Amino acid sequence: MSIQTLDQTQQQQQQLHSLSLIAAHSHITGLGLDPVTLQPKESSQGMVGQLKARRAMGVVYKMIKMGKIAGRCVLLAGPPSSGKTALARGLAQNLSSNDDDDKEQTGSSGSNTVPFTAIAGSEIFSLELSKTEALTQAFRKSIGIKIKEETELISGEVVEIQIDRSITGGQKQGKLTIKTTDMETIYELGNKMIDGLTKEKVVAGDVITIDKASGKITKLGRSFARSRDYDAMGADTKFVACPEGELQKRDTVVHTVSLHDIDVINSRTQGVLALFTGDTGEISSEVRDQINAKVAEWKEEGKAEIVPGVLFIDEVHMLDIECFSFINRALEDEFSPIVIMATNRGISQTRGTSYKSPHGLPLDLLDRSIIVTTTIYKEDEINTILKIRAQEEEVEINDAALALLTQIGSETSLRYASNLISVSNQIALKRKSNNNIIEVHDIKRAYLLFLDSKRSVEFVTQNESQYID
Ligand code: ATP
Repeated sequence: MSIQTLDQTQQQQQQLHSLSLIAAHSHITGLGLDPVTLQPKESSQGMVGQLKARRAMGVVYKMIKMGKIAGRCVLLAGPPSSGKTALARGLAQNLSSNDDDDKEQTGSSGSNTVPFTAIAGSEIFSLELSKTEALTQAFRKSIGIKIKEETELISGEVVEIQIDRSITGGQKQGKLTIKTTDMETIYELGNKMIDGLTKEKVVAGDVITIDKASGKITKLGRSFARSRDYDAMGADTKFVACPEGELQKRDTVVHTVSLHDIDVINSRTQGVLALFTGDTGEISSEVRDQINAKVAEWKEEGKAEIVPGVLFIDEVHMLDIECFSFINRALEDEFSPIVIMATNRGISQTRGTSYKSPHGLPLDLLDRSIIVTTTIYKEDEINTILKIRAQEEEVEINDAALALLTQIGSETSLRYASNLISVSNQIALKRKSNNNIIEVHDIKRAYLLFLDSKRSVEFVTQNESQYID
């Protein structure tokens, strides 16, 4: 079976699609950690407070980057609006930023992007896919496969190669001239290479390297092209002989695709278009088995690298006991991502059973999880978060209005107060306020027009007789 892969841009489009789930977090651009110590800054990258949880997520981040945490799960547990999704979003942002520092520390080659998939527990239940198929797809979207492909490149076609040899004072010397359509490079041949490298002795596929500092040229043979050392070499120092016996510059291009992408385009009934429509249907286990075997083979041959990514399951208490048992098993698979789950439930019923458990999760899954807790915010933290949200929404708010909004945030919820920003902005715009700045009466008006959950419950209770049971 020949396995097809997919271009990286499609993969990125898909990741963006899954991240659009969390647009309320557009102000979050990372976990806000110090890049060296990974300690959280009080307010950075849109993240405010919640220091203990952010420190813990910093450790998780480091372990993911080092490829040491696949097959584990992290449970983010805390009250509503306490930043669990924001933390997951911050982690995703950190993972997708490709700084060189990380590359050095992890020692991996090429793009360092770690796949991140976000779903809500309730998404698993649909008519088109069984629960386990939906979960399998989410798991496989979170496994990246870095595929190395060689391309011939850079400075035009090689048009001429000359090897001139001479012996000066008993020393063998010479020079190699490689002329391409864009450039002419002359390399001095070292003593050894006079014997080792002649045009006749170079056969198709041989790798030749040129050390730019010393000018030394070394023939490394054909199998070297498949080694890790070859990938690590700079493109301008490695050459591979093409069938005519000439030398061509080569480079390695790395595509990152997900296991799910490979499944879809190799599934006979679906095909590549399904990646755009999202209408992938069920994929047979035979296809997946073949793909797993092929990917394992590529890995063995050094052609592919497996990058365990992150699967974020928000509102995990919405899953039922069958889903939980599936996750328990899937975490033991050789291709397993790290699973990060979030819940705001305390002791509650595990769906599909008659018993209650902490966060609605069965005890065996809880036992496997490392638990990170979030706590409710202090008033000054709420104030800073609301200020950042106002900047993000490009609205202006005066100090008194922000203070009132902060008070509303502490008495109701951060999310409710945050939602009032855009509503108050509309009210300010409508009454043509001074420079469109939100003032106290705009907030008051928005508060009266739109109920928070507590007032909504009171309203429903008072008017119970008017509603259908
Ligand atoms: P729920 O349990 O209801 O799903 P949650 O714990 O996932 O809530 P979030 O959705 O992350 O809460 O937070 C609510 C809003 O507040 C979001 O817009 C989020 O980006 C913002 N927010 C929460 N915590 C922080 C924080 N520490 N720094 C900056 N913004 C935050």
